[in-house]
Amino acid sequence: MFSYDKNLKITGAPLWLDATRRVDTCVVSHAHMDHARKHGLTLATPATLALLEKRIGLKRSASLNYGEPYEFGDTNITLFPAGHILGSAQVLVENHGHRLLYSGDFALVKALTAEPIQIPESETLIMESTFGQPRYRLPDRARVIQHLVDFVDAALSTRATPVVAGYALGKTQEVMKILGDAGYRLSVHGSVARLARVYEKFDVAFQPWEMFNRHDLEGKVVIVPRIALKSRQIQRIESKRTVFLTGWAVNPAIKHRYGVDEALPLSDHADFDGLLEYARRVRPKKIYTTHGHKDFALHLRNLGFDAEPLKRKKQLSLFEG
Ligand SMILES: [Zn+2]
Repeated sequence: MFSYDKNLKITGAPLWLDATRRVDTCVVSHAHMDHARKHGLTLATPATLALLEKRIGLKRSASLNYGEPYEFGDTNITLFPAGHILGSAQVLVENHGHRLLYSGDFALVKALTAEPIQIPESETLIMESTFGQPRYRLPDRARVIQHLVDFVDAALSTRATPVVAGYALGKTQEVMKILGDAGYRLSVHGSVARLARVYEKFDVAFQPWEMFNRHDLEGKVVIVPRIALKSRQIQRIESKRTVFLTGWAVNPAIKHRYGVDEALPLSDHADFDGLLEYARRVRPKKIYTTHGHKDFALHLRNLGFDAEPLKRKKQLSLFEG
């Protein structure tokens, strides 16, 4: 049985999944800040725990390896790679033969710095729906990366400094790997670098990179979290070209909204088609959608799934009998 009232609680255990307030015991799917809290006991993959420790510090924690069931009373919790960022996990909850899968954030397209997704089947599925509208169909990843490389080359050819921005955890480490492996020299902002060092501890091998130094940027690509684009140290780079990497960039207005020269749709989420494919592969009898557009459940229903948005104050008896 689970209950939902802003936060998702497995009532038999009892433990929470990705709670947005401090709770006694919580399984955390990944280390993005939207659900990073100092819980009494945090259960997560070793990489997620290391990233959370770096970002917010933790109280007590226990690491769960992918694919290994963790017994919690008469409930089993098993984490599966979600392909979103390093350490990201889907959470499979099993109790008395019933299975509930919570997707967390996930991506089907393989990234260089996240464990490839493995999708278990489950009767009940609670899934994210960030890009749950048909207009969010992302172009092929290889094409987006080519556009990024072309943008960087064009900037360097005019002796401007390319400044590549993305979310501080995940996207910027992925772009460090992409551009480093492609032979570019990287000048990395401190908040990206401190998380990249955690990646290195978990065997993500970056080419040699340097800490950002405004006075030593000739021929280098600067990698920054998006919020640093407005900082003085970046603003003071004299000749620069800025690009922001986000799935939302399928909307051409994004680059004006964020005041960047270019925005490219490199995403660590499944796009609309990816969300539908994920639902097919889980083969659920019932789907609840969360973290995204409420219309996504309608699209699932049109395909024959029994689907609805997860609403507040929901109580479900899934695990009885
Ligand atoms: Zn995320």
